[in-house]
Order: sequence, then structure tokens, then C-alpha cells
Amino acid sequence: MRLAGKVVMVTGGGSGLGEAIALRFAEEGARVSIIDVDKVGGERVVSQIVERGGMASFTAADISCTEGARSAVLATIDCYGRLDVLVNNAGLAATTIEESWNVEEDEWDRLIGVNLKGVHLCSKFAIPEIKKRGSGAIVNIASIAGIVSVGGGHYTASKGAVVMLTKTLAVELAPDDIRVNAIGPGFMITPMSTGERDGLSEADQKVRIESFGELVPAGRCGQPVEVANVALFLASDEASYVTGQLLCVDGGFTAI
Ligand code: NAD
Repeated sequence: MRLAGKVVMVTGGGSGLGEAIALRFAEEGARVSIIDVDKVGGERVVSQIVERGGMASFTAADISCTEGARSAVLATIDCYGRLDVLVNNAGLAATTIEESWNVEEDEWDRLIGVNLKGVHLCSKFAIPEIKKRGSGAIVNIASIAGIVSVGGGHYTASKGAVVMLTKTLAVELAPDDIRVNAIGPGFMITPMSTGERDGLSEADQKVRIESFGELVPAGRCGQPVEVANVALFLASDEASYVTGQLLCVDGGFTAI
């Protein structure tokens, strides 16, 4: 058990990559605090973990505002009395990708609010709790869009900023033995990328995923567990000398 006894908070844990991370971490002995705006998804993931003999709780919170981020961390401490690892995973895709220079202010603010400000706010409230443990880790789910141009300007701006926030927090927190790393998933099969979230039919989702897969040297899109396994490594003591890094999990896409 690589996370035995640890308490982990996963934002956006009710779907996709966050769901896979919550399940994988629970398999390795972590007690998981799932935070999401989606109550149905969050509670579904808690049930899956409990059915498999793990421990998990769900808190409905919007991490893009101070009140939501603070309540997410408080609920985790109320439930488990400690926090060892924060996974900043909650995120939104851009609804405007073509000509993103022309995006409406509302969409810009909404996306930056979740993808970037949410990472800052959850870190801000979680770090004092992790410091009390004497060591810990933060794993930020950024994107290949943090280093290459995919997904629209506000999306790439948010993820590029998360990569730099990761490096800065890593330097600031290294003396406290808190490691901060980022993952850059490529084209992964989740409701965000398949189009399920936007109501695409199953057939259209399949076409979309196949077409994304053709762009990747590995010839396919990635499974959520392939990100979860890397998050597990970065959260665990196996990565004890790894901090301030972006690790892309993208089937070679950013190596082209
Ligand atoms: P998803 O849409 O399946 O899951 C995202 C979850 O975040 C949802 O459960 C949603 O309810 C939750 N969420 C959204 N806004 C929130 C808020 N304000 N407060 C709390 N929870 C909120 O998406 P996913 O593909 O699993 O994406 C997870 C992360 O991975 C995101 O940060 C995304 O940008 C990143 N990512 C995804 C891909 C991909 O191909 N799917 C690629 C690179 C990066």
C-alpha cells in the first residue's frame, strides 16, 4: 500500500481523471476526500470506493471561489483530522476553441476561475494543513496545453499558468518537505474530451476519440488510469526527490 494512512483531497473527483485518481489512491490505502460541484458523480465515486473496502467522503463545493475552496479543506479536516496530499484536478474545457482571441469575458473568467484560481485557492487553504503533517505532496493536473497550443487560448493560458504556479510553490515549499508537481495529460478518454459532457452521441464520441488518437504517436487516446498511476507515483514516497516538474502523460504527443 503506497498511500497507507494518508488523507488525500481530490478536486473534481466525481468524473474522469479525478474519479480514476480517487479510485487508484483508495486502492493504495488512502482515505479520499472527493470535492466536486457534481453531487451525483461525487457520491457515485464514494460508493465505488466503499464497495471495494476503501474509505472516502464527498463534499459539494465550487473550488473557484474562496468560500468553496475553504469549505472543501475544512470538510476534509472535519472528516479525517488531517490532510497529506492535495490533487488539484477540477477543470473546465473551453467552449470556444476557434478564434479564442475573441472569447467572451464571462467564459474567460469562468475557465480561469476553475482551472487556475481554483488551484491557487485550494493550495492556499490546504498548505497550512499539509505543513502540520511535516511533509506532503500536491499534484496539479495541468495539461499538454500548458506547453503546446491545443484547446483554445484561455485553456492554454490557464494550464501554462498552472505549470508555473507548480514550479513556484515547489520552490517555496521544498524546505517544508512538501513536493509540488504537475501532470500534463494528453488526449484522454473522459467525459470532457469525448464530448459526452456536451451531449454528443456515442457514435460521434467514438469518431472524435479515434480522430484524436490519430494525432498521437502511440496511435490512441489515453485511459484515465494511465494518469492516475502517474499521480500515484508523484504523491507517494517513491517520488521523494521529485518536485517542481511537469510530467506529460500523452503517448508521445509533446515529443513530436
Ligand atoms: P471531466 O469533465 O470528466 O471532470 C472534471 C470534474 O471537475 C467534473 O466532475 C466537474 O463537475 C468538476 N468541476 C468542474 N468545475 C468545478 C468546480 N468549480 N468545483 C469543483 N469541481 C468542479 O474532465 P477530465 O477530463 O476528467 O478533466 C480533469 C482535469 O484534467 C481537468 O483539469 C482538465 O483540464 C485536465 N485535462 C484533461 C484532459 C482530457 O483529455 N480529458 C487532457 C488534459 C488535461
